[in-house]
Amino acid sequence: MTSPVPFRAVVDSLPAYVPGARGADPDAHKLSSNENPFPPLASVRAAVERAASELHRYPDMFATALGEALAARHGVDPSGIVASTGSVAVLGHVLQAFCDAGDEVVHAWRSFEAYPILVQLQGAVSVRVPVTADGRHDLDAMAAAISPRTRVVLLCTPNNPTGPALTHTEVLSFLDRVPPTVLVVLDEAYVEFVRQDDPLRSGAVLAAYPNVVVLRTFSKAYGLAALRVGYAVTSPDIARGIRTASTPFGVNHLAQVGALASLDAEDELLERVDAVVAERTRVLAGLRAQGWTVPESQGNFVWLETGARTTEIAVEAAAAGVLVRPFAGEGIRITIGTPEADDRVLELAAGWL
Ligand code: PMP
Repeated sequence: MTSPVPFRAVVDSLPAYVPGARGADPDAHKLSSNENPFPPLASVRAAVERAASELHRYPDMFATALGEALAARHGVDPSGIVASTGSVAVLGHVLQAFCDAGDEVVHAWRSFEAYPILVQLQGAVSVRVPVTADGRHDLDAMAAAISPRTRVVLLCTPNNPTGPALTHTEVLSFLDRVPPTVLVVLDEAYVEFVRQDDPLRSGAVLAAYPNVVVLRTFSKAYGLAALRVGYAVTSPDIARGIRTASTPFGVNHLAQVGALASLDAEDELLERVDAVVAERTRVLAGLRAQGWTVPESQGNFVWLETGARTTEIAVEAAAAGVLVRPFAGEGIRITIGTPEADDRVLELAAGWL
């Protein structure tokens, strides 16, 4: 079909963002979107239900209470927090605020599939630097890819979909090689799941490098994917640009209330994160014992290089009641789920070798 009004050429050239399969079978294990396997906490649910009485009002456009709570948590001024409709929307606003047509954005590849789409929609150029054989960012190559046209560098840590996280030392030495006029985005969507030596301490990074934006989300560890809340932590000057580019009222009232209630219940939520991390350790060990080469995962997912058989394996898994996320010709990303779901994954994976 041809639109009666022509799109911008780039719109036709872009791949669609592919959401994780939802499947028709309510009993299937949904391991396709890196969601939290636990249902909402009763306290969070009750707060959101109470907030429904305000549905006829616009939300607080600036998500003031949430911004203040997040600022206190991150030790920054509230003017350095910008929340929006998931961290993917915050990233879109960052690119709108900083990139003109023809500007370059350097990022790892394979990494989060939204990166090249958002960059190219902005008219900017996506400069993809291949990850290493073990799924890590190649920071030397990324530093070398920075040109006078580079406006933004995206670091995804832990990297979706391959799994490894950058260390604090690695990030600092990278930042020392980035010109101060280039923005560096640290996408920490999965930060709560990191258990490694020398973990990135983004608060210390923000204090030392004014050209850094940290992205966080309530979708993963906090289990609020349906509410769509993510945010940037950065210097007030950079935040001002991101805020200007933001969609008005981008964080709805239920989302603001749910996110605040989750911060109140953080201890309980972080215990759940520990349970997911324990399962991740078990799944990684199980897959490796079967003979799979699996990159180190610091997120709530694992990456299997299944190459040309990827699509076939994903279809087979779905038929067996396990929904995974295939990247055709490359591999499948499997979210860590309940022990029962993970047992099923291990059973199936043994047959895919
Ligand atoms: N960054 C990364 C690395 C992700 O994997 C995701 C979600 N898949 C996001 C950002 C976006 O998350 P959300 O928009 O739900 O906050």
